[in-house]
Amino acid sequence: MDEAVRKETPPPVVIPRPDHNVSRSGISKNALKVMYRLKEGGYKAFMVGGGVRDLLLGREPKDFDIVTDAHPEDVRRLFRNCRLIGRRFRLAHVFFGREVIEVATFRAAHDGEDEPPEGERLLDSDGRILRDNIYGDIDEDIWRRDFTANALYYNIADFSIWDYSGGVEDVRHGVLRLIGDPEGRYREDPVRMLRAVRFAAKLGFRIDPASEAPLAALGELIGAMPPARLYDETLKLFLSGHAVQSYELLRHYGLFRHLFPAADAELDAEEGDTYRQLVLNALESTDRRVAEDKPVTPVFLFAVLLWGPVRALAMDYQEEGDAELQALWDAADDVFREQQQRIAIPRRISTPAREVMIMQPRFGRRRGKRVLRLLEHPRFRAAYDLLVLRTETGEEDPATARFWTDLQNMAPEEQSQAVGAGKSGSGRRRRRPRRRSRGPKTPRPTE
Ligand code: ATP
Ligand code: MG
Repeated sequence: MDEAVRKETPPPVVIPRPDHNVSRSGISKNALKVMYRLKEGGYKAFMVGGGVRDLLLGREPKDFDIVTDAHPEDVRRLFRNCRLIGRRFRLAHVFFGREVIEVATFRAAHDGEDEPPEGERLLDSDGRILRDNIYGDIDEDIWRRDFTANALYYNIADFSIWDYSGGVEDVRHGVLRLIGDPEGRYREDPVRMLRAVRFAAKLGFRIDPASEAPLAALGELIGAMPPARLYDETLKLFLSGHAVQSYELLRHYGLFRHLFPAADAELDAEEGDTYRQLVLNALESTDRRVAEDKPVTPVFLFAVLLWGPVRALAMDYQEEGDAELQALWDAADDVFREQQQRIAIPRRISTPAREVMIMQPRFGRRRGKRVLRLLEHPRFRAAYDLLVLRTETGEEDPATARFWTDLQNMAPEEQSQAVGAGKSGSGRRRRRPRRRSRGPKTPRPTE
């Protein structure tokens, strides 16, 4: 953003407290405490971003971000329970038990995350920033916000909302609109394209046509983003309760393929019917779990999203003569390795996700003691869930899933019988109690 643009930021429309519905009762006590203390310290203090937006919409905000003209060191002086983070742009985190309130200093309108040019900083002998162009005022801060709906400032001094960009109107109409020139803003930070989809999905907003238009052409830029950042963004898209909507919008705008190239190709394949259905069913169930406050895991998400390409590649390998398990093993390795180029899936997630896939053929075996060992596998539950999904789409014989459903609900002796492992052998040996996560525990029959 150049100097000329910055100077032109028109004054905000100030919406006084009686004319909006953002109430202090919706704001966390700790966020209020932080703002009040800043104010008493002689500083400006505003809540900005999702907090204001969600309260305007009558939703419960996920977190409360505070901005101020106090510099990070000033913030630290005001709060004992405060830690400064970040090297370039320092942010203050104020801790209240498990709640962390993030306090950012108004930033000048340097684009993106770039370091301000050398020479614009003046450091003291300890390297502390005395004066530079990093920090700005509120009317510059708005240029580093993405959407108008995310750029509303709630002023703790008089509980008014400052609106520089028509955000209140946009929130009212359910419109997601980038501040400034959309193409330029996406180029500055291509992750904003994913954020557009995420907020549209989460809030049920429409993306304004001008902000929508560049998505197809600029999607490519997502491929150049740091894979660790794309991992974080992917989890927000798919594990926050609006996965189906996120997925459909990503596909609609041609963005999905920049996150999951192999999966996207498989979804487009003529014979991709069962996989398309599998993905939808899985995401629906993820959304349901989030709505019910049940835990969701990236392990299952990645296993499901990558199942299509892994299965297709495994079939190729089998046609080339590999054994079923070996083929699946190699395919999973190959697909995950390629996927890592886009999304940095941590090993603690990718290893179990691969296991969930590789366990699938083992469900076909229903006789012998090894069958029971599968039940004890730490990944059994997730693998079983994938089996059920595969059954729903007709990829797997329903009898197989039924067998495993029943098996889990049996007493150990019955289980041995069901797999033909007999009473002897396993009956005498001491085993760790079997992990059974589904259904009520069947009591062991007394002898
Ligand atoms: P939620 O927390 O509900 O997901 P949010 O709007 O608070 O939504 P955050 O990612 O927490 O989103 O970011 C807080 C605010 O910081 C945003 O509302 C926006 O103003 C600004 N912001 C965050 N990331 C970007 C970005 N990549 N480009 C521009 N502004 C951003
Ligand atoms: Mg937030």
